[in-house]
Amino acid sequence: GLGAYDPDNVFARILRGEIPSRTVLDTEHALAFHDIAPHAPHHVLVIPKGAYVSWADFAARATDAEIAGFVRAVGQVAQQLGLEEAGYRLLSNMGAHAGQEVPHFHVHLFGGRPLGPMLT
Ligand code: 5GP
Repeated sequence: GLGAYDPDNVFARILRGEIPSRTVLDTEHALAFHDIAPHAPHHVLVIPKGAYVSWADFAARATDAEIAGFVRAVGQVAQQLGLEEAGYRLLSNMGAHAGQEVPHFHVHLFGGRPLGPMLT
């Protein structure tokens, strides 16, 4: 499984300001920034500011305020980028079978072009 939270993962380092990122939205409970290797014209990562490895970890341990803040931030990013009308896709990888590379819970937001079928 994903195991314990690694405080030196790349998103933890972005949250601490040790690695630069291009911020889209910064709120009390969430940070959104452009993916370094975009797969679409808009490819943003939205992360909670707390130390959570996965959706299940976040759902189990985060406060209601953290969960609400994160969910709202995802929607705000889509609105801010002007994607509501044309549409967009949310995706979150959990663990080995999903190919999760960074063990800090995150949601990918893709948009800006027709995205095609979801799974390859
Ligand atoms: P995962 O496979 O864990 O769902 O996705 C990790 C994502 O983080 C990948 O899309 C990858 O391009 C992105 N990423 C990895 N390192 C960095 C980084 O240092 N900065 C930014 N902005 N994105 C990163």
